[in-house]
Amino acid sequence: MAMNPETQKHALQQLLLHVSNYSNYYKRIFREHHINVDAIKTVDDLAQLPFTTKDDLAQYNDDFLCVPKSRITDFVTTSGTLSDPVAFYLTDADVERLATNEAQSFQCAGGTESDIYQLMTTIDRRFMAGLAYWMGARKMGAGMIRVGPGAPFLQWESIQRFSPTVIIAIPSFIPRLIDYAIANDIDFRASTIKSIICIGEPIRNPDFTYNELGKRITEQWDVKLYSTYASTEMGAAFTECSEGKGGHLNPDLLILEVVDDEGKAVKSGELGEVVITTLGVEGVPLLRYKTGDLCHVYHEPCACGRTSPRLGPVVGRKQQMIKFKGTTIFPPALFDVLDAVKEIDLYQVVVSKNEFGNDEITVVLPMQLQTSAFKENMHSLFKSRLRVSPALTFVTAEELTFRIYKQEKRKPEKLIYI
Ligand SMILES: [Zn+2]
Repeated sequence: MAMNPETQKHALQQLLLHVSNYSNYYKRIFREHHINVDAIKTVDDLAQLPFTTKDDLAQYNDDFLCVPKSRITDFVTTSGTLSDPVAFYLTDADVERLATNEAQSFQCAGGTESDIYQLMTTIDRRFMAGLAYWMGARKMGAGMIRVGPGAPFLQWESIQRFSPTVIIAIPSFIPRLIDYAIANDIDFRASTIKSIICIGEPIRNPDFTYNELGKRITEQWDVKLYSTYASTEMGAAFTECSEGKGGHLNPDLLILEVVDDEGKAVKSGELGEVVITTLGVEGVPLLRYKTGDLCHVYHEPCACGRTSPRLGPVVGRKQQMIKFKGTTIFPPALFDVLDAVKEIDLYQVVVSKNEFGNDEITVVLPMQLQTSAFKENMHSLFKSRLRVSPALTFVTAEELTFRIYKQEKRKPEKLIYI
């Protein structure tokens, strides 16, 4: 995935020309900031441009669109965990770019044309990624079984019927899949699955060892896990190679910056906010878009031979930072503690404000765990891992399943704000 810097420079200049001609949003920004687009020639020159934020994108959504709506092939929305979903528009060329990204992403994760993928995410519901996976597998010459989310019975029936080699799933679904196999005498260890493409949730700690979820899967099942980090805004993915040392940037499709609170690039190995500039996008191209995601960045060449920068797991989202009893916590740290407890297979973290405007955290768990011994164990586990212990409440497993796997939502809701 090494790219000639001249090619990336050319792609950047094409992008600047495109947005200065067709994006009402960037035309206004360039005018207001007195920016001479012709003076921006290299990736380093990008620093002359202001950042684009999530709020800008939400507030001026359709001003970002660079083509008439009659040219749109696919209409999608972002997931909107913290805010209303934002609309994204893909032209035919954008859909093709997405397919290229995903084919290269699968190849980075060891995929070949002889693989058969089983898709355990939704392909509709205005979700970009599901469509991208299908097109990427097709472009690579591989096969795909589109089972969709949930439905453990149908997942195992499809695995036994079609012998897929790779699963694409939200990793927290995999323990449920294993539990179902155990409960129904399915010999999952003898299945044809050799690897899992894990989307949406981290499976590693910042030092690249498996986190509790990653451990929980690999201690039971001899499969290789590949982490990916992607978003609708990027229309591209950072995917791990077999080294498992962070997701590789695809420099044909994105320019990556990782910045500190002052907007300055952090050094290799340091934590910062991921900022992306999309290359080759027609519909909704973005310049210096601040994702809100906090990752470590690594610029050293990877043992796999690729020289593109790598991103470690998402430590948290800037807007999801919780200040709880004087301690700063990101939701993934709470998930990691909960994933470490074998008895817990369902949970929901509820973040709210108390009467003084301070953050409160409540973990909702299934009723059958409600014993004083369990509560005491959880309290000391949270104390030792995070220094603070959230409140625990218990509801029936049916109620909890209903709250997490809402029909109208594309992803399980492990975290909610009220
Ligand atoms: Zn690598």
